Amino acid sequence: MLGTVTTGQSDRSRERRRVVRVVLALGGAAAVLALAVVVVPLLRPPGPRPLFQLPVPCGEIWRLGTYPGHDDYDVDLFPTEGAAWGRPVLASHAGTVTVAGINGSLGGRTPDNPKGPRGRGGGYWVKIDHGGRWETQYLHLLEPPLVRAGQRVAQGEQLGRVGSTGNSGAPHLHYEQHRGREKVETWFDGVPSGITDDDTEYSVTLTSGNCAAGRP
Ligand SMILES: [Zn+2]
Repeated sequence: MLGTVTTGQSDRSRERRRVVRVVLALGGAAAVLALAVVVVPLLRPPGPRPLFQLPVPCGEIWRLGTYPGHDDYDVDLFPTEGAAWGRPVLASHAGTVTVAGINGSLGGRTPDNPKGPRGRGGGYWVKIDHGGRWETQYLHLLEPPLVRAGQRVAQGEQLGRVGSTGNSGAPHLHYEQHRGREKVETWFDGVPSGITDDDTEYSVTLTSGNCAAGRP
């Protein structure tokens, strides 16, 4: 009798050890899978630069600039004609929206109250993944973006309107291009903008070639 009881306890403890081994193995497999899903894409080299266009309507002329204290490669866009408030902001290239929301805080700068309280960060903003580890960002939009995360957008599709939400002095579009994990010099229509660092105030005037609205 005693022997049988001992065997029963030993069976149970063997079963417990087996369960522990299975749990550990599953945990290990999950860790390897997470590593593959998260790390492998980061190691993948970026693809070729998409043919980005200015994030504003075809034919419009805008001044692109930067200033000391702005980060390297960051671009602020101002129209050369007409008011900036409410102007359409377009996708530079086709892609998938990864963020459409609020960065920092909105503040209270509106067309009716342009000197209202300044917010923090980017305000209403949109981020688009163009594939090949290329990404663009659009900040300080006037209102909630017209697109939502996960949505596929075509080149030239409207994302929102120019505003002054977040940490913005006057209505303008703050725009960035990223390759992999780094911010890079912005290129438009295959030509580098020349906006590379924030040591000095610098600007360039360009005409939008974002003329293929609806291109998938
Ligand atoms: Zn800016």
